[in-house]
Amino acid sequence: MNEVAENIKAVRRRISEAARRVGREPSDVTLVAVTKTVSAQKAIEALEAGVVDLGEARAQEARRKYEVIGDRALWHLVGPLQTNKAKYCPGLFSLVHSLDRMELINELSRRAESAGMVVNGLLQVNISGEAQKSGCRPEEAEDILKSASRLAGVKIVGLMTIPPICDDPEESRPVYRSLMELKAGLAKMGIENVSLAIVSAGMTNDFEMAVEEGSTLVRVGTAIFGSR
Ligand SMILES: *Cc1c(COP(=O)(O)O)cnc(C)c1O
Repeated sequence: MNEVAENIKAVRRRISEAARRVGREPSDVTLVAVTKTVSAQKAIEALEAGVVDLGEARAQEARRKYEVIGDRALWHLVGPLQTNKAKYCPGLFSLVHSLDRMELINELSRRAESAGMVVNGLLQVNISGEAQKSGCRPEEAEDILKSASRLAGVKIVGLMTIPPICDDPEESRPVYRSLMELKAGLAKMGIENVSLAIVSAGMTNDFEMAVEEGSTLVRVGTAIFGSR
């Protein structure tokens, strides 16, 4: 077994153990292998090891790898998206994790509609309130979801967050807990055409804790491909 395959096996085992600790099904957690800065060849090793979902931080890099790998993978955009890059998303990404403002969501919907498509996206929320961080404020989430629910080219299917970088992963726990509370509150509103089924939370340093707190999708790069 190559190193990527071995790492994936170890990450999957850790996801399963975290899920079981809190009475969840390991199959309820999707593993997205984050391939930013990683070669297409290494990304293919991940696919051969059974991963289906690949995450990229930039649309251009995803486009380059898509030319090599194509539809063997489901492509996720996990990094911030400039409004003028929304045009690259329809037909490429099966999920855009970084929708955080209506200007961007409107443009993405317009581009998707003219391509005859619907792009699935997550509302990225800046739970910790750190400056310089993408994501809407938690108080804005309801309004954005309601506005997005009226668009034909984008369907919101959940929430995403990135916690502050810190040495102790336990410090992410309250962030993930707040995200789950926000999700529960929004779910009660029953906004039409919006699903909150996906919670994208957890990276190499803290994915087990994210799973314990209810994440349904973890974005793991370093633990699979080594440090960048
Ligand atoms: C790079 C990146 C990841 C993966 O981070 P690791 O710590 O390498 O697992 C996850 N999510 C986002 C948004 C990223 O940019």
